[in-house]
Amino acid sequence: MPSNRDDFSQGTKDLLAKRVGCRCSNPACRKLTYGANDDPTAFTNIGVAAHICAAAEGGPRYDSAMSSDERKSYENGIWLCQSCSKLIDSDVSRYSVDKLNRWKRNAEEATILELEEASPIQSTVQDVELIKFYAQCLDRSAFRDQISQEGCMEDFDKAIESTIIAFNTGILRTRDGDILKQAEGKAAVQNSEWRDKLFTIVDILTAIRRRLKIAEKEQSFFQRDDSCGGFYYFRDHELEEWFDRSREEVLKIMSSVCREAGLHELHFPRRYYRW
Ligand SMILES: [Zn+2]
Repeated sequence: MPSNRDDFSQGTKDLLAKRVGCRCSNPACRKLTYGANDDPTAFTNIGVAAHICAAAEGGPRYDSAMSSDERKSYENGIWLCQSCSKLIDSDVSRYSVDKLNRWKRNAEEATILELEEASPIQSTVQDVELIKFYAQCLDRSAFRDQISQEGCMEDFDKAIESTIIAFNTGILRTRDGDILKQAEGKAAVQNSEWRDKLFTIVDILTAIRRRLKIAEKEQSFFQRDDSCGGFYYFRDHELEEWFDRSREEVLKIMSSVCREAGLHELHFPRRYYRW
């Protein structure tokens, strides 16, 4: 190679490496390029600060219009592993200036996103807090009483509705609309299995509300006006059973999430059914 190469300074090399998290910028590679060495005072580096436009005349993608300073600037460099730096110089039409600049930009943006992401441990802690909140949302009479023992179907429907809102938004309201507790909606849960279960719970709750509306229209149940007061009689016993079983199912799913989240202290009072 000619002697007048426009090599990068050590500072520019460091900058190129650190801005991409010391990983190769080739999106198909992303190999780690820095690591520990057996010598406790040393580290291993298999990365290269490669020139996008060659450092010397005759080299790959050499641009004669560039000044020497431009050629050795941060803008003209890309951090790659040794094999990818070989690769880009072996096929300059495939690995164009535009393509390499795109690799560089994307690799840098990827590190920003990675830095902003919560660590797995942190997100688990947040998840457990959210699970605790959702479990508390189910700790209400609408999930304890048999459907026939409900005092007022309208209130029951409202309780189910506010539970759905709490799961979706993280806001739990009282009957009067006061905000009791605030967390985040189920979509914020990072653990995908737990999130799926929370979505399933909301699906079941939504089905309960829909079924209740139909049952009302079809007069599948009516309020008993004997001295017991406030209790309901279902003409359709299968439907009555379905309302009880579907809420039992909700509690079962929530219990399984609580168990997995290590929330052993949370338990749901058992209701007593006919079966
Ligand atoms: Zn590579």
